[in-house]
Amino acid sequence: MSKGIIVQKYGGTSVSDTSRIENVAKRVIATRKKGYDVVVVVSALGDTTDKLLELAHKVAHEPSRRELDMLMSTGEQVSCALLAMAVHSLGADAISFTGAQVGIVTDASFTKARILDINAKRITCALKDGRIVIVAGFQGASPNQDITTLGRGGSNLTAVALAKVLRAKVCEMYTDVDGVYTADPRVVKDAVKIDKLSYEEMFELASLGAQVLQARSIEFAMKFGVPIHVRSSFSNRAGTIISKEVKAMEDIVVSGVAANKNEAKLTICDVPDKPGIAARIFKDIAKEAINVDMIIQNVSRTGATDISFTVPASDLTKALRVTKDVSRKIGAGDVTFDRDIAKVSIVGIGMRSHSGIAAKMFEALAAAGVNIEMISTSEIKISCVVAKKRADAAVRAIHKKFNLGK
Ligand code: ASP
Ligand code: MG
Repeated sequence: MSKGIIVQKYGGTSVSDTSRIENVAKRVIATRKKGYDVVVVVSALGDTTDKLLELAHKVAHEPSRRELDMLMSTGEQVSCALLAMAVHSLGADAISFTGAQVGIVTDASFTKARILDINAKRITCALKDGRIVIVAGFQGASPNQDITTLGRGGSNLTAVALAKVLRAKVCEMYTDVDGVYTADPRVVKDAVKIDKLSYEEMFELASLGAQVLQARSIEFAMKFGVPIHVRSSFSNRAGTIISKEVKAMEDIVVSGVAANKNEAKLTICDVPDKPGIAARIFKDIAKEAINVDMIIQNVSRTGATDISFTVPASDLTKALRVTKDVSRKIGAGDVTFDRDIAKVSIVGIGMRSHSGIAAKMFEALAAAGVNIEMISTSEIKISCVVAKKRADAAVRAIHKKFNLGK
């Protein structure tokens, strides 16, 4: 009798070479021997996806998105076949499948497709035959049988989606760190591994710069209540469990500190203070599919005001062009920009029921001599934009102020 299904996802660093693939094969077999049915989702070896993208841009200035998906999906096809062979070599039974083969149906928005449906029959049949099932992550096929990919980091989404349709006990996400930390351990020496997080907190941390998990997969897990366990493929230590909020979680006011150094700030000076102006500016920016993050507008004393906002650094050139254009059309002044910024954030569901958290964060920054350029808050997070070169100092100061360390 099976004890139930476990979905295990191994990221690129966990399968970056053949000895690591053998290590994964052993772990998968060990889980099977404990009496579970095992479905494994793998990412491409190491930085294969980046390499494939580089190749594409060598032969085409703007490669066709359909062909990009044909290309990028091969990375995961390599790793799942190799893992199946490695499992065979250790004497166990396994079979690998592409996303299309296991019935992952997506829409046709190439390079960022959404999953429409999964027909998991092929997987359940193979499990019934006692086999370990290995699925290529990050991909599916459109209703027209075109191969699609799910966006960078999409193997996480494959794993969570399979865990949901298979009603798995848990979706284990294997990576090269022990779990989710209170801050980036490379920046904060005494950062500690977090044992439990709510979906909301993990979603915020992932969106705000913590790089362990793809934010979209958390959203999916939250919607369907799929329990996630983030852990290391190089040890047997328990990692971080991500699940529905429980009462005890509220006692922890701040769960973690995150920093995002990949944003840039733009300021439009002397914007006429009239109805419709903000709508006009941000409509033009949205038309270019640029994601605006924080926005600040000052009060106007003279009938004109400054508006500052942040965008992903990779969109800065595009954003500058649109913003200068719209500024001219609405009769506003100069547009300035700053790419040397960082957004430092704290996250915790306990903020809902505790007060004075923002003040404490600002105090920490003040004591460290870090100037705050922009502030934004929501129910469970507070973000401050600071100079990029002060970001690490800011994270350390905040981490200490809230006693998050060992
Ligand atoms: N290989 C893909 C990427 O690097 C998908 C994944 O790793 O989840 O984005
Ligand atoms: Mg990868």
